[in-house]
Amino acid sequence: MMNGNVLISGAGVTGLALAFWLDRAGFATTLIEQAPAFRRGGQAVDIRGVALNVVEKMGLLDEARALRTRLKGMSMLDANGNETQRTEERTFSAGRLDSDDIEIFRDDLCELLMGAMSERVELVYNNSIRAIEDQGDGVAATFASGMNRNLIC
Ligand SMILES: Cc1cc2nc3c(=O)[nH]c(=O)nc-3n(C[C@H](O)[C@H](O)[C@H](O)COP(=O)(O)OP(=O)(O)OC[C@H]3O[C@@H](n4cnc5c(N)ncnc54)[C@H](O)[C@@H]3O)c2cc1C
Repeated sequence: MMNGNVLISGAGVTGLALAFWLDRAGFATTLIEQAPAFRRGGQAVDIRGVALNVVEKMGLLDEARALRTRLKGMSMLDANGNETQRTEERTFSAGRLDSDDIEIFRDDLCELLMGAMSERVELVYNNSIRAIEDQGDGVAATFASGMNRNLIC
């Protein structure tokens, strides 16, 4: 049974993770992303603690582990470029390198999430929500591109 329609602004890690679970719950979800296409690049994201449980429940733990950054260590340089500290055991921000935590690049994680969603999830690039009007039994959304949608929620 279809549960309704959901509009999500932004197809980053948060928007895609939300769309993943709403898709599983039977919602028809539309992601509106202002970038003209999927943006590669960006920093790494740590999956640790309860986030590991969430990724496991998504059924994506093995795939996420295979995509991890495989950081080998960390070194600190002074203003002249001389190494002042080095460690191959841990990083200052992410803890021990031999832990079960997963460090994964933002774009790899986004692609993993996109690949795990059904065709019911619609991704609209090069657009953003301009206005949402409450119409009692639903909302009417208008978009920067001029596109209009009536959503029954
Ligand atoms: C230098 C740096 C280092 C980091 N290191 C780590 C780390 O070590 N570990 C960690 O866990 N996290 C780290 N992060 C944070 C991590 O990258 C973010 O937490 C994560 O990307 C946030 O995801 P998000 O989906 O909330 O936001 P974003 O990834 O920014 O996604 C938001 C999306 O919404 C779109 N958008 C914005 N406004 C609109 C609009 N009006 N209409 C339509 N679309 C819109 C944007 O184009 C974008 O695609 C780091 C971040 C930076 C910058």
